[in-house]
Amino acid sequence: MFDTHAHYDFNDFDPWRAQLFDELSKQGVNKVLIPGVSLSRSVKQISVAKQFDCYYALGMHPWYLPKDISQSLVKLDNLLSEQREDASLVALGECGLDKLVDGFDKQVELFEGQLALAHQYELPVILHCVRAHEEVLARLKQQNLAKAGVVHGFYGSTELAKRYISLGYKLGIGGLLLRDNAKKLQEAVAHIPLEHMVVETDNVKFTVQDASDFPAYCQKIQKITTKIANLQNLPTVFVVEQLVRNSLQLLEV
Ligand SMILES: [Zn+2]
Repeated sequence: MFDTHAHYDFNDFDPWRAQLFDELSKQGVNKVLIPGVSLSRSVKQISVAKQFDCYYALGMHPWYLPKDISQSLVKLDNLLSEQREDASLVALGECGLDKLVDGFDKQVELFEGQLALAHQYELPVILHCVRAHEEVLARLKQQNLAKAGVVHGFYGSTELAKRYISLGYKLGIGGLLLRDNAKKLQEAVAHIPLEHMVVETDNVKFTVQDASDFPAYCQKIQKITTKIANLQNLPTVFVVEQLVRNSLQLLEV
């Protein structure tokens, strides 16, 4: 299985990381993408990715708005240029727009700058989008990226999903799907062809309590995949294989 979005570089995982990756591999999760959230974390992020043989993406999340947008875009440009020969660098992100946090105008400036860099470095993007789908879609249409990308943590209707798909984007399906009240998402997942989806845990936290049951913590991808298989009325083995193929195709790895 391929977890296309997990923040295993975050500090919570420091004491547990080796054990965690051990358990993940026992459970068949042998590919993980660690997305970037801010440039100040990139050194650790890249070193964790190297140590545990993960893919990674570099980018600036709208929750971590830098003070000086244009300067930070120059820094990201330099970092991408330094790392461009690294085969583990597979995407730009997270980047996007989020109306639940402040500074929307700055977010737009940062997002547009990152889309331009994704174009320049020919990378797919990992999108974070909350209550700003119209604004994000408009910019994706403007900056027609050859490799498109993924709408991470997708939550929306079948119709919204189809609009992203028509631009070549995949939908990152995560833990929200497992909630009983996520009817809209479940309906979308039931109706969209499987080839447009990838799966993700978006794991960010790890506590001592989680550590008391490592296997359960690591089963999240399996649970989401099984749910997709049920909604699509397809055998789980088939769905697992197709989702891995979709991820490899998205990231060209
Ligand atoms: Zn994330």
